[in-house]
Amino acid sequence: MKTVRVRFAPSPTGFVHLGSLRTALYNYLFARKNNGTLILRIEDTDQNRYVEGAVDNLLSTLDWAGISFDEGPVTGGNYGPYFQSERNPVYREKIGHLLENGQAYPCFCSAERLDKMRNEQQQAGQDVRYDGLCRRIPAAEARQRMLSETHVIRLKVPETGQTVVHDLVRGAVSFQNNLTDDQILIKSDGYPTYHFANVVDDHLMQISHVIRGEEWLPSTPKHILLYQAFGWEVPQFAHLPLLLNPDKTKLSKRQGDVAVEDYKNKGYLPQALVNFVALLGWHSDDDREIFTKDELIEAFSLERVTKAGAVFDVQKLNWMNGQYIRNLPEEDYLEQGGAELRRLNRSGEAETNRLILLAIRNQLEKFSDLSEKTDLFFSEKIGKYAPEAEEWLRKQESKQIFRVMLTGLEKYPKLDIDVFRDLMKDVQKETGIKGKDLWMPVRAAITGLTEGPELPAVLAVLGMQKVKSFLKQAVEL
Ligand code: GLU
Repeated sequence: MKTVRVRFAPSPTGFVHLGSLRTALYNYLFARKNNGTLILRIEDTDQNRYVEGAVDNLLSTLDWAGISFDEGPVTGGNYGPYFQSERNPVYREKIGHLLENGQAYPCFCSAERLDKMRNEQQQAGQDVRYDGLCRRIPAAEARQRMLSETHVIRLKVPETGQTVVHDLVRGAVSFQNNLTDDQILIKSDGYPTYHFANVVDDHLMQISHVIRGEEWLPSTPKHILLYQAFGWEVPQFAHLPLLLNPDKTKLSKRQGDVAVEDYKNKGYLPQALVNFVALLGWHSDDDREIFTKDELIEAFSLERVTKAGAVFDVQKLNWMNGQYIRNLPEEDYLEQGGAELRRLNRSGEAETNRLILLAIRNQLEKFSDLSEKTDLFFSEKIGKYAPEAEEWLRKQESKQIFRVMLTGLEKYPKLDIDVFRDLMKDVQKETGIKGKDLWMPVRAAITGLTEGPELPAVLAVLGMQKVKSFLKQAVEL
């Protein structure tokens, strides 16, 4: 295979869509796997779509996800992006070539004329496309009019034949040339369209593989025609499957969060999100699920990218993130959890924080769950028992356990993990109840749940007073 050079080429729209993260990630994995080069190119030639702060947000999101680049202007020690908005002289020069060799032509049609043309085509049930009026203007006259009249520049698309996209994911896909529009290459503001800047840059930046979302597949024949008009070699293409909602419609904001920033803000771990996104449209030959980044690089190949749309299942992401939280080194977990406690205004002494965080670690799917999962430690009563918990609490044996515990606790000045262990041994001796029948009622009374946080740590944090009051609340139920 020839030297791999790939690019991630987002238009800065203000937020980073999960699909964009996947495109960036697959390019990154492909480059790393093949000792290639990954560049970042900001496609910002559409002046009307400029969004303040979008580029900074993009860069920090990619950085958070651990996606780095190998070439480009250096900013702050990293390779930064190329900006298309700074490359207009390059596009002007290239369009000059196409005008000279007759592959492109200026179009002077007014917006009104184009509207009218489209309406007529629609009414006649025809495909809507430019009718080629200006294509027939003699070259000398066109050149003259360009000096004074507003115009765009269009590609002269062949009127017959077909253009075949050889896609690494989808195989050969053919498009009829007579259905392809004489696309605009340069807009009336003098700036290039997406198609033109994209092709010129992919050529000049020697891109070997264009890896991007399936929504760009219909543009690809236009791009190939442009490469041919220039007489340039066409890169390889790989179009990644669409991301879908669970109901198989295209992934949309209406059915949940689609911005990477939303997941970042909710306390998902970047390693987990990257692992999860990697599996949206690709899987390894052994269908493994958990991968470090290095393992992904090792296992990744375009051959294993799927054609069918990939369903975004947030439950699976939550499960995966929970796995990553449990696998964090304890120190990192306590640090990140501590930061979240501070944010929630629930941070106390270091030891208390530690006990709380360790008690609920197994219940967390994401750090933002800390708010709900720590409620227990900050309330005066159990607000609501889970139905299964209530069942345990209604048993007479359970009430007996609580009464014995309450009397037993009088012996101790304060409650800690060791005291709790001794207490429970005594309760077991006195009541003859053990195992599940002993522990479930206690868990239900103290946490309101039948599964959940580590009991000894919970009791130690709650302390004597609250534990007594929760036990009394359970006796009285
Ligand atoms: N600027 C396009 C985008 O926003 C790039 C598509 C491509 O990779 O060619 O996704």
